[in-house]
Amino acid sequence: MVQRIEVPAREGRGALVQAGTRFRAVDVEGKQCGDVFAFCAANPSEFASAEHTRVSCGRLFPRIGEQFVTNLRRPILTIVEDTSPGKHDMLVAACDPTRYQLLGVQSWHASCQENLQKVMSEFGRADIEVPQPINVFTNIPVLGDGSLDWRPALTRPGDSITFRAELDCYVVLSACPQDIVAINDKNPTRMALEVLDG
Ligand SMILES: [Zn+2]
Repeated sequence: MVQRIEVPAREGRGALVQAGTRFRAVDVEGKQCGDVFAFCAANPSEFASAEHTRVSCGRLFPRIGEQFVTNLRRPILTIVEDTSPGKHDMLVAACDPTRYQLLGVQSWHASCQENLQKVMSEFGRADIEVPQPINVFTNIPVLGDGSLDWRPALTRPGDSITFRAELDCYVVLSACPQDIVAINDKNPTRMALEVLDG
C-alpha cells in the first residue's frame, strides 16, 4: 500500500490517482455506506456516470472485472476485488442539505454532497457537477413491486472494494453521514481510502 487516507465519520477525503492505480474503499467498523466519485483529472466535467454505467454493463451495478464509464462513455474505473457481501447501489442521489431538511432535521447536517464539494474545492476544482454516486456497501434493494427499501449495510469491519483507475482521475470517498434512515444502522462511522500503487 502506498497511502492510507483516513476518512473520519461523516466526512470526505480524496486522492489524485494515475491510470493503472488501484485504490480501495474500506469500511473500517462495519455497516457503513460510502459514496465514491471519480472525475477526469484533465477535464472534471467528465466523471463516472451511474446512468451511462448501467447501460454499459447492462446491470444495476457492475460485477468484479466490469467497468464504470463516464458521461462520455469512456471506462474510468474497474472493480478488481470485493471482500464485502457485494451489496452496492447506483440508483440514489448523494445526500444533501435539502434531503435532511425534508427528513425533518432543523439545523445543519453533514452530507455527501457537501463533503464532495469540499474535497474538490481543496483540489482547486470547485466548479464540479455533483454526479449520482457509486454507493458502495449501500443496501437499498429494489423490491418486487418496484419500491426501494432502505436497509442497514451488511458490511463487516474491514470489508473493502478495490477499483483500478482507467484514466488519471480525482477519486473521492464520503463516509455517508446519513443517520435518519437506517442505511448506516443510524450510526455513521469512519472509513479509509487506500491507494495501492504508486
Ligand atoms: Zn450520504
